Parts: sequence; C-alpha cells; structure tokens
Amino acid sequence: MAYAADVIIVGTGVAGLFCALQLPEDTRVLMVTKDKAEHSDSYLAQGGISALRTPDDYDSYFEDTMRAGHYENNPDSVDVMIRSSPQIIEDLVAFGVEFERTADGLSYTREGAHSTFRILHHKDITGYEITSKLMAQVQKRPNIQIEEYTAMMDIMEQNRVCTGVIVKTRDGRIQPVYAKAVVLATGGLGGLFRHSTNYPHITGDALAIALKHRIPLQDIHYIQIHPTTLYTRQKGRSFLISESVRGEGAVLRNAEGRRFVDELLPRDVVTKAIWDEMKKTNKQFVYLSMEHMGEDVIKKRFPNIYAHCLQQGYNITKEPVPVTPAQHYFMGGIAVDLDSRTAMERLYAVGETGCNGVHGANRLASNSLLESLVFAKRAARHIAAYMPAELPPEQEVDLQPYTDMQALRRQYKQWILDEIKRKDRAFYDQWCNDENTG
Ligand SMILES: Cc1cc2nc3c(=O)[nH]c(=O)nc-3n(C[C@H](O)[C@H](O)[C@H](O)COP(=O)(O)OP(=O)(O)OC[C@H]3O[C@@H](n4cnc5c(N)ncnc54)[C@H](O)[C@@H]3O)c2cc1C
Repeated sequence: MAYAADVIIVGTGVAGLFCALQLPEDTRVLMVTKDKAEHSDSYLAQGGISALRTPDDYDSYFEDTMRAGHYENNPDSVDVMIRSSPQIIEDLVAFGVEFERTADGLSYTREGAHSTFRILHHKDITGYEITSKLMAQVQKRPNIQIEEYTAMMDIMEQNRVCTGVIVKTRDGRIQPVYAKAVVLATGGLGGLFRHSTNYPHITGDALAIALKHRIPLQDIHYIQIHPTTLYTRQKGRSFLISESVRGEGAVLRNAEGRRFVDELLPRDVVTKAIWDEMKKTNKQFVYLSMEHMGEDVIKKRFPNIYAHCLQQGYNITKEPVPVTPAQHYFMGGIAVDLDSRTAMERLYAVGETGCNGVHGANRLASNSLLESLVFAKRAARHIAAYMPAELPPEQEVDLQPYTDMQALRRQYKQWILDEIKRKDRAFYDQWCNDENTG
C-alpha cells in the first residue's frame, strides 16, 4: 500500500465518495475503508434526499429543519445546506443518479416533520442508487484509489498540523500514510450499540481519535433513536422501516390496536411515545399498520421493505408488523466550520462524523444525505484551494500501541461512552447501559 497521497479520505460512504469526486483530477486521492467498499450506511438509506423544490419553499424548509432540531441548529449551516441543495441534485443527476419522475418532472414525497413534499427518492433504495452511482464514478477516476479492509487506527500530527493517518492494512501491517490533507468520513457510531440500523463496523473511531488529539467534538450526546425498526429477536443490524412509510399513511397502533401518537411528529417525539407505550403495555414493540394503503401502492412504493418483511414472516399488505426504536443517526460529531475544517489544520471531517450544527438536537428526516454531500463538496473546494505544494516530512512514529487492535478498540469505545456520559447522564443511563452497548 502507498505510503503517501495528496489527500487521504477515510470512509467510502456518500461523504467520502463525493468529496473525492469534487477534488481536481490531478490530485492523488487515497480512500481507505475498514470493510468492503460497499459496506457503508449510505447504501442503506431508504427514504430519500431533501431538496429546495422552489425558492418559495425556503422559509418553510428552514423552519422545518430548525423546529425538528429544537432550534439548537446552527442557522448558517442550515442556510448553506438548503441553498446548495438544487446544485447538489444537479450534480447527482449528472453523475447518473436516477430519481422518481412524473410526466411533469421530478417526483417528491414527504416524511415526518416536513410540512410539504420536498423529498426526492428512488423507490425505497435511494441510498443505494446515489452511493452506487458515485462509487461507479470514483472507479472510473485514475487519480482515486480505494483500499478496502484498511482501518484508520489514528491520525498523525506535527505542531497541531495533521500529517496523515496510521492504518492497519488488509494483510495486517500497521503503517503510516502521509498526506497534505486528511478527510475523516467515517460515518456515525451505531456499531457501539446492540440495536442499531447502522453497520456494526461503524463505531465512531474518528471521535475517539479526535478526543485523543484534543480536537473538540460537538453535541456528542445528540444521538437519534429511530422510532420504527422491525422487531426481531435475532442479533445484528436492525432493519429500518423508513419514515416515508408513515409519510404515505402508515399508522402506529398499540397492542390493543389503538393509535397513540401523531405519526408525523419529529422522530424524537414519536420515539418517546412508542417507548412510553411499550412500558405501559410491558411489550418490546408496538405495531405499524399499512394494510389500508393497498397492495399495489405498498409493492410499488416500498418494494424493499415489503420483501424484507415478507422474508421475516410478515406480509405488510395484509397485517401490521411489530416495530421498536433503535439507534439510527448521530447529529453530533467532530466540530467543524462551514468548510468542514476541524480545529486541527489540514484535517477535515464530513458526513455523519463531522458536526457543523446543521441538525441541532434532532435531524429532520432525509436531511443527512444532503448535508453529507453539501459539506463534503465544500471540504473538497477548500482542500483544493489551500493544498500545500509539498507532502509533510516523515516523522518518527511508534507503532507499538497499535499492535493490540482489540484493546485499542475497547479503549476508543470507552472514551466515547465516557464523553456521552459527561454530556448527558440521562441519555447515557437509558441508552448506553450494558444492556444496550455491551
Ligand atoms: C438504515 C438507514 C436508513 C437511512 N435513510 C436515510 C434517508 O432516507 N435519507 C437520509 O438523508 N439519510 C438516511 N440515513 C442516514 C444516511 O444514510 C447517513 O447519514 C449517511 O449516509 C452517512 O454517510 P457517511 O458518508 O457520513 O457515512 P457512511 O455511509 O456510514 O460511511 C462510513 C464509512 O467509513 C468507514 N469507516 C468507519 N470507520 C473507519 C475506520 N476506522 N477506518 C477506515 N474506514 C472507516 C466505513 O467502512 C464506511 O465506508 C439512513 C441511515 C441508515 C443506517
């Protein structure tokens, strides 16, 4: 594996891929990923991607995002995200992404807490459509190389300037890789939780590394629990039943078949209502019912959800399915500015790993793919504009601390959980106890 690149991007989800594609084509880009390149949460996104549909929708979209985020959002980030969205959609279409269309043009759907129809989608596999098309573009670029099964174990720094990363390669070697800029695009932290919709290998490593290097984090305790994942006794990733199902008319019912919440309220409110109902009825789930939407609509609009539930023994066109909340999304992250710069020079953080405050305390549905793309592009522009001429000089690195990978992973996990506990004891007690993270 190479010992240097102009830019190292850690992670091959939408944020990492889009950042790589926005860098000049004469930049040598090395992308590393812990697992198979296609194993990222970006491939799993179902519902869609929000976009400013017409200029008239700006105020309403801004307000929906702020309200969902409990007005703790950074208004500048929200403004940049919304204003950039039409161009991002154009970029995606130019890269070959196909969204549903009607005879009049793009077809928009709606999800919880959006006051209007402004979400673009590709069936119920929008993340797959976007990420696979970006991956295909990356694979065509001779200046971008992807190394799979290569985990970042740490970053390197000299005088508070990031000089590269330390990786464990596919064949088990531990080595430094130098770069003029490093982009952390390592996703969220769902892998730390027993019940999560995320891939188990996505464990917030960059957060622990940031803590180690005294790079400030922001809102680490803002962790979204999704209200509706398919209840199962099996271990492994929880299967998400997208908000758009409720947006299109599915309803929640308790064990007695009674509705107990407005299904289109923000996620955290619906999660709490389900949680309270589960406690009241002493059950581990409630029911999501969509039979009334009609077999044709369900099969056409949600083919992936239909097929998965059927495989698990539930025919959603005929019967309700048991659902339960699970960890889903991370609003916090490494604190970054509007160009995705962290507090360490030459180190950027994009996608779920970075936090520019756009989501506030709670993410509005379908804003995360958009946010990842908007701010990954801005990071690429900034890197290109300020790229140093020379690689950093090699430095002495002690690789011994990285030889016991299991011990290091345990240590990283503990640092993250301790930080969550420090910020929000109540959340930690409910969701980060041994039962949920052990
Ligand atoms: C089931 C599901 C449904 C969703 N639906 C939607 C939706 O409809 N709309 C929406 O906007 N958002 C949705 N989201 C959220 C959205 O998919 C993510 O926020 C977004 O894709 C994050 O992209 P990312 O590039 O930041 O990270 P990811 O796509 O998670 O990629 C992270 C990458 O980092 C790599 N990595 C991690 N740690 C290391 C390490 N130490 N070394 C090397 N590589 C590492 C991983 O292997 C992976 O390649 C959904 C998420 C899930 C899980």
